[in-house]
Amino acid sequence: MRKLVLLLVFAQTLWALPIKIITTLPVLKNITEEIGQNRVSVQSLAEPSQDAHFVQPKPTFMKKVREADLFIEVGLELELWGQKVIDSAGNPKVQIGQPGRVFASAGVPTLEIPQVLSRQLGDVHPYGNPHIWLDPVLVKKMAKNICAGLVAVDYEGLAFYEKNLKTYQDKIDQALVAWEKKAAQISNKKLVTYHRSWSYFAKRFGFEVLGQIEVKPGIPPTPKHRDEIILLMKEAGVKTILAELFYDRTPSEYIAKRTDAKIVQVPIDVGAVPEAKDYFSLISYILDKLS
Ligand SMILES: [Zn+2]
Repeated sequence: MRKLVLLLVFAQTLWALPIKIITTLPVLKNITEEIGQNRVSVQSLAEPSQDAHFVQPKPTFMKKVREADLFIEVGLELELWGQKVIDSAGNPKVQIGQPGRVFASAGVPTLEIPQVLSRQLGDVHPYGNPHIWLDPVLVKKMAKNICAGLVAVDYEGLAFYEKNLKTYQDKIDQALVAWEKKAAQISNKKLVTYHRSWSYFAKRFGFEVLGQIEVKPGIPPTPKHRDEIILLMKEAGVKTILAELFYDRTPSEYIAKRTDAKIVQVPIDVGAVPEAKDYFSLISYILDKLS
């Protein structure tokens, strides 16, 4: 009898285990937790302050992915290192085409799809700019893709996930009103950015990105390029350099000194600063800094 009770307790624990989810980036973890809540247990491979393009896979990554029910990435060849982890983890559930593999960018219209592909152009993304999560409207679509992924591996949670998705999307719509208002109050919307990460953000909030400090994606500036940016900023009246926290500040400082511009260094992922504890506070934080 006691054995039977123990067995039943054990079976129940198994049954109630949360879905194990691995995401490449903390922002995906945050969105997934909003939709999945207590039905999921989510871990991000990358740290909040890391550059999403260049994450060095650690042995612990393979172990985590081996045990995962679901693997969620942005896609668009942003996290190429994620595929390397999957290749060595040997988990059939998260292979491309399986229900356990989610590309949060699926169906999102991308900007800057290159006409020609060449190594000489730097780290060019063949499917267009992958930095889609800096536009809250696109995050609604990403959340929808994540919700579909959750349903695919946990059909019993369908109604729960769809209700949470709706709540999350409504929350974004509400926040967007305040964000757009804040952005509208910024008079000089001309920016130079370090990397081409801000195209979707700029389009949504009415900023104009006139150039990048990187000479090409993934390649730090040459002195010649630096001087060209200085000239461009002076001619166009750009007073703001927007850069992620993880980029080297030296070239931005060199340029700022000669253009009388301000450097706005901000996180682009959830948790990189204590103030950006979720997606909403991340976008608010970036807009506050720009203000
Ligand atoms: Zn990029």
